[in-house]
This record gives sequence, C-alpha cells and structure tokens, in this order.
Amino acid sequence: VQSPSSSDKPRILLMGLRRSGKSSIQKVVFHKMSPNETLFLESTNKIYKDDVSSTSFVQFQIWDFPGQVDFFDPTFDSEMIFKGTGALIFVIDAQDDYVEALSRLHLTVSRAFRVNPNINFEVFIHKVDGLSDDHKIETHRDIHQRANDDLADANLEKVHLSFYLTSIYDHSIFEAFSKVVQKLIPQLPTLENLLNIFISHSGIEKAFLFDVVSKIYIATDSSPVDMASYELCCDMIDVVIDVSCIYGSDGSGCAYDKESLATIKLNNTTVLYLKEVTKFLALVCILREESFERKGLIDYNFHCFRKAIHEIFEVGGVSSLLSEKRNSSLKFA
Ligand code: GDP
Repeated sequence: VQSPSSSDKPRILLMGLRRSGKSSIQKVVFHKMSPNETLFLESTNKIYKDDVSSTSFVQFQIWDFPGQVDFFDPTFDSEMIFKGTGALIFVIDAQDDYVEALSRLHLTVSRAFRVNPNINFEVFIHKVDGLSDDHKIETHRDIHQRANDDLADANLEKVHLSFYLTSIYDHSIFEAFSKVVQKLIPQLPTLENLLNIFISHSGIEKAFLFDVVSKIYIATDSSPVDMASYELCCDMIDVVIDVSCIYGSDGSGCAYDKESLATIKLNNTTVLYLKEVTKFLALVCILREESFERKGLIDYNFHCFRKAIHEIFEVGGVSSLLSEKRNSSLKFA
C-alpha cells in the first residue's frame, strides 16, 4: 500500500462485501470487459489498485477492497487510506439480503468520515437488473431509509450519502460513475457553461463531453439528460472506436487520435456528431439534420470550444478563477 505522498491524485475507493460486484464494475467501466465475462471473475481478496490515468482523463485510482476489511486490524491504516480519497463508492448487492452490507456501510462511512469529512459517499445499489421496477423503488427507499437511520442513531446526520441504482448490464453503471466523477472535477461549472454556449450558437440539441475509454461523461450542457440520448452517444463511441480499430490505416493500433471525427445520420432526421477534443476527451452531439446543413458554423464554434477546453486544462488550478472572464470573451459565431 502506497503512502498518500507518492500520489497526489484524488482517489475513488470502491468498497463493499465480497461478491457485491466491485471487480465487475471496474472491469466493465474501465477495461471494456463485456458484462457476461464478469461471471468468471475471481473474487477479490486483496486491495487492488488500478491506476487508469494513463488511458483515461479520469485521474483516479480505484481501490478494490476485499469484502471483509477489518477496521480493527492494526495493520489496516484507515488514516492513510481515507486521507487522500475523493469519493468512496460502497457497492450493495440488491439481489441479496443486504442487512450485513448496511452494517458494513455504516462502519465504513463512520470510520472514513472521522478521518476525512470531505469524502463524497456514494452508494451503488447494484445488480438491479434482476429487480422489477416496483421492487427497485422499494429497495432504494428501504436502503436509503435504513442507512440514514443508522447515521442518525450515531449522531452522524451531517454525513450525506448519495444513492444510485446500478447494473453492469445496461448504461446505469456508466451514468452513476459519471455523476461520481463529475463531483470531483473542480472545472465542472466552467465546462457546463462552455457547452451551453457552444450548443446554443450551433443549433445543437444535446452535447456530452466524454472520457472516450470509460464512456463516462465528464460534463454536459444544462438541458436534462435522458438515458436514451446518453446511450445513443455511448453506442456512437463504441462504433467509432471499433471501426477505427478494424479499418484504421496507420497501423499504430491507436483507435482514437487528433483526427478522430465521425458523423452518423439516423433515419429519423437526427444526426450524431463526434469529434476529438483532447487525447482522452471527445465531444458527442445530437442535432437535427437541418442544423447540420450549417456545418461550417458548427466547425467554427467547435474550434473555439476545443481551444477553450485546452486552455482550461492547461492552466489548471487558476482556470476556475479566470474561466468566467474567458467564457465571456470567447467569440462563438
Ligand atoms: P467482488 O467480489 O465484489 O469483486 O464481486 P465480482 O465483481 O466478482 O462479482 C460477483 C458476481 O456478481 C459475478 O458473478 C458477476 O458476474 C456478478 N455481477 C456483477 N455485477 C452485476 C450486475 O450488475 N448484475 C448482475 N446480475 N450480476 C452482477
């Protein structure tokens, strides 16, 4: 186990009982494993650190804990583990009896909060693919209620838990991970602002800024996200990467680079448009066919958008201070 000083990246910890689905989540989201293959995963029995920062915009480590971490074991250094943590994801198997998981959640959260009150606590009510819609709502309500009652009994009302219904068999796990990651991006308001300006000047209906490898969207414009649009954009990324893997001509094996650009016209007058923004990020937009006739305008505005994104991530820390000013001086057509 490394000390926090060896890595100053914010960390996501993935915890939960054995067999709750932690390794599967990590493999499906960050390593393109298909959900069915997870049936053959060996159960986790050690702390597994997966540094995804070389392939992904997401500069976080996923620490997959064995189910039965013993906080009272003197060799378990909770101080060190929780200090550098940005978000703690606790996975609960919703298809199983979750009484033990809830007590484990409580123990984990109260211990982590004492060490680091700034951690975002994220509860994944997982494997909900096996539940009917009514059962999903009921399970969500029940887990929410019991977890918060336990906190209240321990005088920990201040602790905020966020809940997500997830499954690796649909896009819900990507959507939940997107929300978790977005909370850890300090530039989020600036990114949203830029996306709003970009779409309103370009006649675009919806735009997502995607981490290509994980299909996590790190920002979108402020119009509401509907699952169908998000899924459409995820599928577009898969298609583009697959086609470019198979037919890409440079032979370098790089399926995504500066030239990456794709347009797909669907038969209902909707157009999907994908373009490279940075080494890890792509913009994926949904627009109507008639708006796409003004492609020159879109390309020009995209150019401005891309430039702004590069400035934001290059300037780093001070960017959020300067961002408002920069937004207003952007010359979108
Ligand atoms: P871990 O011990 O917490 O790392 O759990 P694993 O990732 O090994 O998963 C345990 C089992 O749960 C595996 O057989 C997975 O295929 C299964 N599993 C994981 N996620 C889901 C899910 O979303 N839905 C269903 N139905 N099964 C899942």
